[in-house]
Amino acid sequence: MRIETIKAYRVLQPFVDGPYKMSKGRHADAFDAVIVSLGADNGLVGWGEMAPLGTFYSDAFAAGAQAGVAELAPHLLGRDPRALAQVNRLMDVVFKGHPYVKSALDMACCDLAARAADAPLVTLLGGRESETAELYRVVTHGSVDTMAKLAQRIVGDGFRRLQVKVGGDVKGDIERVTAVAAAVPKGTVIFCDANAGWTPFQARQFADATREIDYVFEQPCVSIDECLSVRRSLGKPMVLDESVVTLENLLEIHRKGVADGLTLKISRIGGVSKTRALRDLAVELGFMVTVEDTGGAEIDTAAMAHLSLSTPEERRLHAIAFHDWVTVKTAVAPPPVNGSRMGIPDGPGLGIDVLAERLGNPFLELGQGK
Ligand SMILES: [Mg+2]
Repeated sequence: MRIETIKAYRVLQPFVDGPYKMSKGRHADAFDAVIVSLGADNGLVGWGEMAPLGTFYSDAFAAGAQAGVAELAPHLLGRDPRALAQVNRLMDVVFKGHPYVKSALDMACCDLAARAADAPLVTLLGGRESETAELYRVVTHGSVDTMAKLAQRIVGDGFRRLQVKVGGDVKGDIERVTAVAAAVPKGTVIFCDANAGWTPFQARQFADATREIDYVFEQPCVSIDECLSVRRSLGKPMVLDESVVTLENLLEIHRKGVADGLTLKISRIGGVSKTRALRDLAVELGFMVTVEDTGGAEIDTAAMAHLSLSTPEERRLHAIAFHDWVTVKTAVAPPPVNGSRMGIPDGPGLGIDVLAERLGNPFLELGQGK
């Protein structure tokens, strides 16, 4: 089986609920996605998707993803997509760094490999551990009142897990989280995600003033060592997200005892294959794990769902359904969402049917019979 054709599309995916807001004024109105299709010589087609969150979230930006995919894709023509380790090694040799550029291409190879095996991707990722995964919703950064009302609405919609954005002015964030915690029923799971917005001094001030509230502290500061210094005086679980890019990061976090859990983002790590490797090691080392991504819609959410459901249930934190965030629909049979839980579509590979006619004209077309 060989990759014969490659197409890449740019798809803008506006948010249903308006701008997505993080601390320090960081916000985005849409995901700006790159979607790739790989056509194989046996007629199968595999799909991959990558979308950064604006230009501020990770070391990635939409125009970079488009330019990078155009630069890297020709190297995959003629390759066997099932040889995932070889494909990833090749991508790392010919294109140094820039894991986000490789993510959609690897995802499409994984989709093809599973379709060729006539198996759902979850089977190739270690096997299905449960029928569904619990979803969380984000309480984006805003006024005390707005955040408390949004949290109430989300809980009213049946969700039990909230990620509350903090990392702005400490005094205000203490008020915001206190109001959110008071607005939701006891037992609601709260993550306070600072998105690396604080110094250790600020993070400790926040943690000290909110110690009566039950929450998990997510990525308070930029570096692993800064987070470690917060961790030493923290009586709560900690999860790192932005700090987890490479296997070395994971091992350092483990060695130093910085976190109890990790959020693995597919595009930040460089694709499904590498995320699976980090996920498996994280599980072995005793971490709690969330597998998600920086953005996307049906294709990317399907990949997240296959990775989430192949993570042992007792080690899984939660998942997210990005296709419910955006106003565009790029595939049918997306991961089914029932209340606060998400499953995976039936069928081989990612299990979705991409609506190619909705993607517009490709910005890249390679190979015979394009
Ligand atoms: Mg996070």
